[in-house]
Amino acid sequence: MFFTTDLHIHSDYPAQADRLSVMRECAAAARKNGLETIGFSEHYWNRAFPGKGRYYEDRGPETLREIREAVRMLQEETSLKILTGCESEYGMDGTIPLTEEDLSLLDYVVVPHSHLNYIGVTAPHDYTDHWKECAEYMVQTFRGVTSHPLADRITVLAHPFEPVGYGEHQNEILRWIPDTQFRECVREARDKGIALEINSLTVHGFSPEELVRSEWVRFYTIAREEGCTFVYGSDLHGTAQFAYKKLAETVAGEAGITDEMMLQI
Ligand SMILES: [Zn+2]
Ligand SMILES: [Zn+2]
Repeated sequence: MFFTTDLHIHSDYPAQADRLSVMRECAAAARKNGLETIGFSEHYWNRAFPGKGRYYEDRGPETLREIREAVRMLQEETSLKILTGCESEYGMDGTIPLTEEDLSLLDYVVVPHSHLNYIGVTAPHDYTDHWKECAEYMVQTFRGVTSHPLADRITVLAHPFEPVGYGEHQNEILRWIPDTQFRECVREARDKGIALEINSLTVHGFSPEELVRSEWVRFYTIAREEGCTFVYGSDLHGTAQFAYKKLAETVAGEAGITDEMMLQI
């Protein structure tokens, strides 16, 4: 399996650098790594929705317009296809903080359901050593996204079932989710036309051998059997992270995912 589209690139990590030059670097690195289509998806919580906490900046559609303009300028310089997205959020109370105006500015929409590290905003409390409860919360939030009124406007579910913040315990946590539950969840995503991301940052801590035996292969095999659509996401926070792309390709290959099952955008 070789991915040629990556819809999950962050470009606002070095606060001192201007957006367009960071995007330019990302595009050059993407090309070197065999990508043909890339999308920029910054974290975004529209200020019109309460509850964003401290981590999210006070943003509105003007931010998306700025990104769109940078994408337009970058598109003039490159033969790669460049898209404007955002990584929105799924709040603890079920909020997906996007307005209609936001949606009109986006080529695609990425929504995560498992930012468990953002306690008080997207997770109710710390789950350390409560792995079963952690797994149950992720099942609940996955279904919260797929049953949300905006579900059919969502393009990609970001890093599905990645217990963000508990990277070392991924297998331990996912073991609590039986096949039947994975199946019910992915069917809902499939029916709403939401592609499941295969995120290379999620799996960057595994060796290829460990990955083949990991819970990720079980999850993506079930999703493939249920007829889901998939998309690659590097979740790039620095171009060196393209080094993990191969690991995501390994997961896809082991799960039997083929080119025809990848999102066409
Ligand atoms: Zn994320
Ligand atoms: Zn991200």
